[in-house]
Amino acid sequence: MHNIVIFGAPGSGKGTQSHRLTHEYALNVLSTGDLLRKEVASGSELGNTCKTIMDDGKFIPEDIMFNLVSNFLESIPETEGVLFDGFPRTVDQAEYLLNLLEKQEDKIDCVVNLEVEDSILLKRILGRFFCKGCGAIYNTFFKKTEIDSVCDECKGTEFYHRSDDNETTVQTRLDVYKELTFPILDFFKKRGVKVVNIDGLLSEEEVFSQIATVVK
Ligand code: AMP
Repeated sequence: MHNIVIFGAPGSGKGTQSHRLTHEYALNVLSTGDLLRKEVASGSELGNTCKTIMDDGKFIPEDIMFNLVSNFLESIPETEGVLFDGFPRTVDQAEYLLNLLEKQEDKIDCVVNLEVEDSILLKRILGRFFCKGCGAIYNTFFKKTEIDSVCDECKGTEFYHRSDDNETTVQTRLDVYKELTFPILDFFKKRGVKVVNIDGLLSEEEVFSQIATVVK
C-alpha cells in the first residue's frame, strides 16, 4: 500500500473522501484534525490549549504537530501505507514528513489535490454536520440524510457541528490555507513528489472513483 496525502482547502472534501477510503481499503488514516479533536474532548491541558487555537482557525504549533505525527507513525507497522489527511499544512511540516519517511526508506507516493472554489468551500463548511456514531459527513445545502435525522450509514440519530465551522473562523482558515498550506504543492513538486489535481466540484462518487485509481 502507498503513502498518500489528501490535500485541499478546508471544505474541499478531504474528510469525506478519507472516510470512504478507510471503508473501502485497508488504509491507516492519519487525520490530524480528528486526533486533535480527540485530545480536546479528553479535557487534557494540551487539549484545552489546542481548542482555543482551533476555535480561532489558527494552526497548532509545529512541535505539538511533529510529536503527534511521529507517535502515530511509530504505532503502525512500517510496511503499511498511510493516508495523510490534514497533514502537512505548512512547508516545514512537509519537509519534516519527507525526512521522517526517508529515514524509513519510504516516501510519499502521491498527493491528491482537491480543487474547489472559495464560494463553494464556504457553503460546504458552514453547512456540514457529522454523525456522532460513525463520523459520516453530511451537509444541509448539498447532502442531507436520506431519512430526516437518521444517519444513512449507521442509522444513528445524533449529529454535531464542529465548533470551528462558523463564519468568523472560516475566513481565517481559508486565508491561512492560502498563505501557509497552498505553497506545499510547489514544494512537493520541486522534491519530485507526484501531485494529481482532481476537480473537487465533481460529485462525491466521481471524486472517489478518480482517487481510487490513484490509490490502487
Ligand atoms: P481539520 O479537521 O483538518 O480541518 O483541522 C481542524 C483544525 O485542527 C485546524 O483548523 C487547525 O487548527 C488544527 N490542525 C489540524 N491539522 C493541523 C496541522 N497539520 N498543523 C496545524 N494545525 C492543524
